[in-house]
Amino acid sequence: MNTPVKKNDQLTVHIEDLTHDGAGVAKVDGYPLFIQGGLPNEAAEVHVLKTLKNYGFAKLMNIVEPSPFRVDAPCPVFGECGGCQLQHLSYEGQLAWKENMVRNVMKRIGKIDAPVLPVKGMEKPWEYRNKSQIPFALEDGQVLAGFYQSKSHRIADTNTCLIQSDESDRLMRAVKEHAMELDLIPYNEETKKGQLRHLVVRKGRATGEVMVVLVTKHAKLSKQDAIIELIREVEPNVTSIMQNVNSRNTNVIFGDETNVVWGKAVIEDLIGDVRFEISARSFYQVNPVQTEVLYKQALDYAQLSGNETVIDAYCGIGTISLFLAQQAKQVLGVEIVPQAIEDAKRNAELNGFTNTYFEAGPAEEVIPKWYKEGQKADVLVVDPPRKGCDEALLTTIIEQRPKRVVYVSCNPATLARDLRILEDGGYKTMEVQPVDMFPQTTHVEVVTLLERKL
Ligand code: SAH
Repeated sequence: MNTPVKKNDQLTVHIEDLTHDGAGVAKVDGYPLFIQGGLPNEAAEVHVLKTLKNYGFAKLMNIVEPSPFRVDAPCPVFGECGGCQLQHLSYEGQLAWKENMVRNVMKRIGKIDAPVLPVKGMEKPWEYRNKSQIPFALEDGQVLAGFYQSKSHRIADTNTCLIQSDESDRLMRAVKEHAMELDLIPYNEETKKGQLRHLVVRKGRATGEVMVVLVTKHAKLSKQDAIIELIREVEPNVTSIMQNVNSRNTNVIFGDETNVVWGKAVIEDLIGDVRFEISARSFYQVNPVQTEVLYKQALDYAQLSGNETVIDAYCGIGTISLFLAQQAKQVLGVEIVPQAIEDAKRNAELNGFTNTYFEAGPAEEVIPKWYKEGQKADVLVVDPPRKGCDEALLTTIIEQRPKRVVYVSCNPATLARDLRILEDGGYKTMEVQPVDMFPQTTHVEVVTLLERKL
């Protein structure tokens, strides 16, 4: 194998970029070396660990010239925990990297020349998550709790998570301290013994309501009263304590059975003026502050006057649909998960909307069916999963020719690919607005406005 560097070589490199896992990327005669802990615009001495045909891995030995954006990561388990990748980069540096990354992907993959605006970031890029799912383990008689290490099921044991709420931290610490005496012995994935698998904490940011879900192997909670007492004492804002029973040998967090242990079965939250009910298992955006920023942008781009029919494809529990319904004649939402559609209908009712309609099914089949039935969108909003829009849906859009398309995406690469298809089909990308929904991580959401030109 003829690579420009060999295992155990020591060399000084210039780091240019970051991978999706947050590793620095340097090129040696065009050959990429991935360097954990390295940042763009740094010169560093590295030790080559491994070389494959098209890329290799090297260890960061010494930073010769640090990035002006380098900071000390504040979290004690940064690097070990798989949750955050960018705590060693200042927030300003994170936003600059994300903006640049979106711009490059638009050009390189989509040949899109629309303006890419600066990323809308958070004023306080910490404690933003409204849901934590904390695995437990028992090792040498010690109860461990925290989050999984990158690409593994080993727990990075911690007593605090800086992107989670204080409530989540306090509950995690209390359950960890008292797990054994409460007969919540951590479940062991190998022996399949034990009781407590995950502690899930959800919070309605606007209402302050907190839900605790104990995911256990067995249905019986032998010390139920003591568990309730501890949770309520630690966190008086808890309005719902639930139990989910997962007795299967699986990586999936939740099982099929969910019971109320104490209080209500749901908590509520508001995004803008729209109210949402959240149950133990329902899908809900994890950063409600930035969700509002993202959906306000989508609403702005939709430019609704009140006379439009809007289709919201990949609508989930109808979060965007209900936002749009405030200003449209009617909104039709489609989503593949039937339970999410049930939630969407209930949320529409909870808010008194009478101009929404939701249907479960694949967007690429339901939307053509609606068109045949005479339901034509003036504005179409899509918010697909990471793999992007189904090609059949893009073909439908090009055939049915809505005036505007608002594309919300969690993956700039598939977004750029789909924008190219839509541009070739007669649309023009007007503006690209990234929004930072996940500070301290490499993720970025993007909302894009397209207008029909032909
Ligand atoms: N817009 C929602 C959720 C977006 S996530 C929100 O903001 O909350 C993407 C959603 O697309 C998921 O809920 C997923 O279940 C759904 N989905 C995936 N493939 C789909 C398809 N072919 N048709 C319709 N929905 C699909």
